[in-house]
Amino acid sequence: RNEIGKLSWQIDEVDDLLGGGIETQSITEVYGEFGSGKSQVTHQMAVNVQLPKEVGGLHGSSMFIDSEDTFRPERIDDMVRGLPDDVIDATLEDREIEGSAGDEAAVDELVDDILDKIHVAKAFNSNHQMLLAEKAQELASEHEESEYPIRLLAVDSLTAHFRAEYVGRGQLADRQQKLNKHLHDLDKVGNLYNAAVIVTNQVASNPDSYFGDPTQPIGGNILGHKSTFRMYLRKSKGDKRIVRLVDAPNLADGEAVMRVQDGGLKP
Ligand code: ATP
Repeated sequence: RNEIGKLSWQIDEVDDLLGGGIETQSITEVYGEFGSGKSQVTHQMAVNVQLPKEVGGLHGSSMFIDSEDTFRPERIDDMVRGLPDDVIDATLEDREIEGSAGDEAAVDELVDDILDKIHVAKAFNSNHQMLLAEKAQELASEHEESEYPIRLLAVDSLTAHFRAEYVGRGQLADRQQKLNKHLHDLDKVGNLYNAAVIVTNQVASNPDSYFGDPTQPIGGNILGHKSTFRMYLRKSKGDKRIVRLVDAPNLADGEAVMRVQDGGLKP
């Protein structure tokens, strides 16, 4: 069917690890502990997906399912302004906005335009979140023939509601089943509409968690067979973050370094 697209992180080391970027028609799971930068990654991808293809974007719009009230338009604003000048110039030209990276009015217009093309939906509980995944399919369908089709579906956090609502061992089977259905729906959007799906997940850092292993994501292996790319984030010194690619088919395991800065994720 559609050719698989690659969405650049705009960080060479990470892109190299991924063979060019995260892929459309598959799910990428970004997991890590509190504050490791998972939400930063989803925000950055919601920007990057909109960039023209010649600079690593997919010329698409995005849907952002927000379950923990983490979406921050101001963060998007910072990230757009923080893009390299040549990327801003290419994007301005692509959108027929007059001016260049140094031009305040032009960049203001670009910020608004990019914010306009991020469809944010807050998920109030796990059932609502599951419903939004079904709605995502409708949204993608509506935009399929538009100039900026949906090319990214981000879910931040995939597991928080499920984890809070299905507590105790007696409810684990139920939780897994619901999560599986949810992932299946997300996967479907990715496959049908050639979109990249990125989901965030916390690591099981507390002792009452299912696995109790601080390097394992919540839900353990249920995501194992669905998320084709699993990326483990961990904090290093200061703004430094280590990105590890885990068990990706056809790609070598490895690590890359990035930084979380005012202007977004940087080499
Ligand atoms: P949680 O599991 O709590 O949602 P997370 O992995 O999603 O955490 P983020 O919220 O993505 O973490 O990242 C938070 C970190 O990002 C902060 O600790 C900070 O270091 C960094 N950060 C956030 N905003 C900025 C900014 N404007 N400038 C520099 N660094 C920032």
